[in-house]
Amino acid sequence: MTTFWCEHAVLPGGVRRSVRVVTDRGRILDVRLDEPAEVGDTRLRGVVLPGLANGHSHAFHRALRGRTHDDGGNFWSWRDAMYAVTHRLDPETYHALARAVFAEMLLAGYTAVGEFHYVHHAAGGRLYDDPNVMGKALISAAREVGIRITLLDTCYLAGGLTAGGHVPLDHVQERFSDGSAEAWAERVERLAEEETVRIGAAVHSVRAVPRDDLTVVGEAATRGERPLHVHLSEQPGENLACEGFYGCSPTELLAGEGLLTPSTTVVHATHLSDRDIELLGTARSIACFCPTTERDLADGIGPARRLHDAGVRLALGSDQHAVIDPFEEVRGVEMHERLESLERGRFAGADLLDMASLNGYRSLGWDDGGRIATGHVADLVAVRLDSPRTAGAGTRGVLYAATATDVTDVVVAGEQVVVDGRHSSGDVGRLLADAIAAVRR
Ligand SMILES: [Zn+2]
Repeated sequence: MTTFWCEHAVLPGGVRRSVRVVTDRGRILDVRLDEPAEVGDTRLRGVVLPGLANGHSHAFHRALRGRTHDDGGNFWSWRDAMYAVTHRLDPETYHALARAVFAEMLLAGYTAVGEFHYVHHAAGGRLYDDPNVMGKALISAAREVGIRITLLDTCYLAGGLTAGGHVPLDHVQERFSDGSAEAWAERVERLAEEETVRIGAAVHSVRAVPRDDLTVVGEAATRGERPLHVHLSEQPGENLACEGFYGCSPTELLAGEGLLTPSTTVVHATHLSDRDIELLGTARSIACFCPTTERDLADGIGPARRLHDAGVRLALGSDQHAVIDPFEEVRGVEMHERLESLERGRFAGADLLDMASLNGYRSLGWDDGGRIATGHVADLVAVRLDSPRTAGAGTRGVLYAATATDVTDVVVAGEQVVVDGRHSSGDVGRLLADAIAAVRR
């Protein structure tokens, strides 16, 4: 049993001072208000938030940070640079990179990650001896650094979509495919869950999974009670191709195949029609916005407030990791809305915290995460209130003022994995530099 004494804690009812959070076997056993610290308590200074979820990650994209800006370009030219890195990925380099990136996430205050994983096989699509070795590399990486993970194992079958239909995989994309949705489902069934590991399902996009296969993935997700994620309408080009071939939007296609449910998370949801927003709201699905990626890739600004008003829950992800900072993501949603609407306060502070925490946990299949409350998983993030950025901002201002560097302590499943701004693996910058050098050689 470990007890954390919090100078301030953000509880479901608001911010409270001097709170003791009693944990046992990874869960919160009790939350005691107005109690002084006792001998043996782990003291968490500043303000303690519930764990923050990174709802959408491709860990290996971290190797591209800062490297794709020289020649301008667009989403598609960025994708070519990303594909160049995949040639260097094998179980060893994939593991080392994920380990370093997950450690960076923990330092920033992310306690859970949804890893959208599609680099399944060796060059040319050849199976490794264990066809799940790449997914297992991600799970080991998460376990070793102490982050909670939902492995979103991704079905990827086609090379793209045009008005004439799906095109074959190119030589890079062959690694992503299991050949059929049935083979994908069978492989995913062989992955095991653990206390801090969930297995989820994903459709890469309507570009990469034809209509008949969407149903197979949807049914497999429902059967396994797995969360289902899908990239949706990040680019106008995807909408145009979908309209051209199917005569409907990507959202309408997913709805028609029964893929929109409360367990579904659509990632980006940038270019949506009124009808799309209505469908997502009626389904009570989740939309995972990735503001730092969407601005980096010039994707556009998604309709966050309109989705929220329609009944869609919003979550957040750092996607390609141009930035790993949960505070920057959550501010991104609010600030992009302000720029578009010419109004401030588009979301209440409590709604912003739900995006960063509760909704992200729900999106990743952790229905018992995202709150500092009895029975929930014991994931906590302490943020200092006396840094040059946060000084004077107060406990309520922390989401508007803090950055990742203001996170001092991080607890996942009752284990303290970041202490006073340091992760147990040591120099995370060095880990990242070495892991990135190995895939950029
Ligand atoms: Zn993505």
